[in-house]
Amino acid sequence: MEITPLEPLFAPVSHIVPKFQDSRYKRLYAFDSTVLIPRVRAHVAQHGGMDDRHSTIPVGVLFPQETKGKCACGCGRFLIGRRRKYATDECAQFVNLAFCIVAGYTDLIFSMLVQLHGYKCSVEGCEETNDLQVDHIHAVVNGGALSWLSNYRLICCPHHKQKTKQDIQRKKLKQNNLPCH
Ligand SMILES: [Zn+2]
Ligand SMILES: [Zn+2]
Repeated sequence: MEITPLEPLFAPVSHIVPKFQDSRYKRLYAFDSTVLIPRVRAHVAQHGGMDDRHSTIPVGVLFPQETKGKCACGCGRFLIGRRRKYATDECAQFVNLAFCIVAGYTDLIFSMLVQLHGYKCSVEGCEETNDLQVDHIHAVVNGGALSWLSNYRLICCPHHKQKTKQDIQRKKLKQNNLPCH
């Protein structure tokens, strides 16, 4: 099975200064999401699912405990006392939220996109602020099921419908092995 290039799907958003920022999400915005690429790649090589919107990846695969006795979130801290996986509650919360982003939990992604980009359709020239929806920039039907915030944007309903049509067309073109632009 062909695997979608994961680099654009997991590009960090750390260069974006959020319009406003919920302190719970601070670490997620600053996170170097490229560390997830080899983990996701290994998972989808075995299980596929990059074109399935119900696709998910186990938390333990996304954030493995790379060093025994150290926190699985990647903070580098040692596990003390009764701690088995995460050094602090904040570490566990970070991992859970990161998992929800990759697994495509729309409510969370929606609120984070509002903080990052503001409350408006992201299509250039469109000022629509009503009925905004979360769009996979690289569509699920074309292999963008698992991704980071960089692969999501807010889009108005008419633009979303238009985009979805294009995504399906692109898929058909690909299936027919025709060049697509
Ligand atoms: Zn940690
Ligand atoms: Zn729009």
